[in-house]
Amino acid sequence: MEVYRRFSDYLKERFGCRVHKISVYAGFFCPNLDGTLSKKGCIYCNNYAFSPCLRENLEIEKQIEKGIEYGKKRFKAEKFIVYFQPYSNTYAPIEILKEKYGIVKKFSEIVGISIGTRPDCIDDEKLELIESYSDKYEVWIEYGLQSIHDKTLKIINRNHTYSDFLNAYDLTRKRNIKICVHVIIGLPGETKKDILETAKECGRLKFDGIKIHPIHILKDTELERWYKGKRFKVMEMEEYVDILCDFLSYLHPETIIQRLTADCDRKFLVAPDWLLEKQKMLKLLGEKMKEKNIYQGKNYKEIQ
Ligand code: SF4
Repeated sequence: MEVYRRFSDYLKERFGCRVHKISVYAGFFCPNLDGTLSKKGCIYCNNYAFSPCLRENLEIEKQIEKGIEYGKKRFKAEKFIVYFQPYSNTYAPIEILKEKYGIVKKFSEIVGISIGTRPDCIDDEKLELIESYSDKYEVWIEYGLQSIHDKTLKIINRNHTYSDFLNAYDLTRKRNIKICVHVIIGLPGETKKDILETAKECGRLKFDGIKIHPIHILKDTELERWYKGKRFKVMEMEEYVDILCDFLSYLHPETIIQRLTADCDRKFLVAPDWLLEKQKMLKLLGEKMKEKNIYQGKNYKEIQ
């Protein structure tokens, strides 16, 4: 038995072949950086580190072409999902969104789109546009949730509340759009209890997908200053894995686990070094889950 539901397995079942996700920078920005809400952004944010596509400075078509070529060669992928990744990809007038998302129609190999955004950058009109792609594509929206605790959202300078997220969730749930959330383990001020409260909510809301990663310190961020000033410590791999086991146990068994760590270019990473040891972390997680007899959804019934 698989201890958690992997995204790669889901894609293979759903599309019958290898599917590769292409990250694309479509020229959007973020209200938490442009001064609308703040100019500082989230304390861990460095979009250049998150998104190699942002550093390449290519037009959307070129990025997709390159991604298809790479995915075919490197992974023998036959189909592709375009992931609008950096910044907040619903933060623009509807005509601009339509123009940018519509570029996917030029490529016959594309079977899905995934749109990453903040929960306070969505409304019914935008969701209607996004849902309109669901007749031909698998459509995902990825919301940055990070934590359900408003005290944490304040500390990390998200400039939205959990209730903003619930509002976006309610609007999205009515539509034929899959919801994936991003959660960070190890945020400043959070205890294991706080983190597992977020896990229980993620279970209760039965998300279609989730991306979880450990907090990590990137260059040129507020968090780097906290870390260097000894105001904040990162987790060891073992501690992260221990919490992650329990976190997964509270999720709905059907929720697709899209990611359990972060990919980061070494040149942007300050700490922890173990973030670069992805396979080692995943191996340890598998071992720990077996040892503790934990699997995704094991404790889900507790929250019903
Ligand atoms: S919402 Fe995303 S892009 Fe905006 S500041 Fe936070 S992490 Fe950066």
